[in-house]
Amino acid sequence: MEERPISDISFRKFLAEEKLMGSKCGKCGKLYVPPRHFCYECGSSQMEWHEMKGEGELAAYTCIFVCPAFMAEEGYGRKNPYCTGVVALSEGLRVVARIEGVDASKPESIKIGMPLKVTFLHRGEGDKAKTYLAFKPA
Ligand SMILES: [Zn+2]
Repeated sequence: MEERPISDISFRKFLAEEKLMGSKCGKCGKLYVPPRHFCYECGSSQMEWHEMKGEGELAAYTCIFVCPAFMAEEGYGRKNPYCTGVVALSEGLRVVARIEGVDASKPESIKIGMPLKVTFLHRGEGDKAKTYLAFKPA
């Protein structure tokens, strides 16, 4: 794999390529998603990229009815809420992501502990192209 600096920019590039990458501490093995360039656990800066499996389960979620402008542009809002959640990855860490494929207008239908797998939301074009990390029911 091409060497990329451990940074938020690299993390986003990997997302655009549909890879969920974290950083792994070369000293104690602790994983971070999004990546960090030094380890909070042991202070080491020997970080390397680690591709995550992209599997996990829903640990917490919230359905958002009053949304920021960039989400309103996607057509979300009071009548079309969306869901954001905390996903407990199979590698043992948690990540915040959009939750797709669930009915955010019926929060009671969304279950804590439901198995999820990673998906990537590509939005915008050219210079404005962005990829968002998301999970959907496995
Ligand atoms: Zn460490």
